[in-house]
Amino acid sequence: MNGRKTVLVVVAHADDMEFLAAGTVARFVQEKGYDVYEYILTDNGKGSYRLQPEELVATSAREAVEAGHVLGLREVRLEGYADGNLNEVHPVTLRDKIMAMIREIKADIVMSWDPFAPYEDHPDHRMVAMATLDAASFSGNPLFHPEHTHPPHPVTEAYWFAKHPWNAELFVDIATTIDKKIEALLTHDCQMILTVDMLVQEAKALGVEVPALENLDAEGHRAVIAAGVRAYCETTGLKAGMNYAEQFRYEKLGMLDKLLGTSFVIPDFPL
Ligand SMILES: [Zn+2]
Repeated sequence: MNGRKTVLVVVAHADDMEFLAAGTVARFVQEKGYDVYEYILTDNGKGSYRLQPEELVATSAREAVEAGHVLGLREVRLEGYADGNLNEVHPVTLRDKIMAMIREIKADIVMSWDPFAPYEDHPDHRMVAMATLDAASFSGNPLFHPEHTHPPHPVTEAYWFAKHPWNAELFVDIATTIDKKIEALLTHDCQMILTVDMLVQEAKALGVEVPALENLDAEGHRAVIAAGVRAYCETTGLKAGMNYAEQFRYEKLGMLDKLLGTSFVIPDFPL
């Protein structure tokens, strides 16, 4: 019980996991010895105001793999669907791909965007969330995608990202891994430049002056991201009496708990 587990993080974009869950993932790897895999479904080809798509796709892919090394992931797998257009891919095709990876690595835990999060604005996040739920719900059923090479394998737990407080039920203390989370985020250099560019654009649209965002060099970009992420995790932690936290909706999948009342099967979430 609660031995070494395998975790599959399924995301739409290269930096999704780092923003929402890298502190928790780092604890899975460092403290629990879990094997964590990341599956990035899009090519990130719209994630810049500066680079052309071809250079951007290659750069963000390289940075995603480097960030995986920072966090100690077993593998970062890139599917390469067009960024922003994941809703052009049939939901069953997405379910098929994710379920195949669940079965291949024998995932016990999935992490992804929350399929039932209210007000999620990015269509890619909504698509990856629902497809991950569909795949994790039926990966143990041999009649779903019987053509898969690897045998059926049930997923028992899900950590759904909580971008907003509305679906935040579980707070994970990341005081020991906040620095690692920031290091992993900063490895996504082109995505962090985009994040700051978006903040600058937003400030301009609102007609407000934000001195911290003016005339930034590379180090300035990094400082803005590091301070912003630290502050965000600090604010999240305040709700749970922690110095730094990440928030999730946690779910036990399957029927055992529900039908037999065996809440001892997974006595507590691992962290
Ligand atoms: Zn994203």
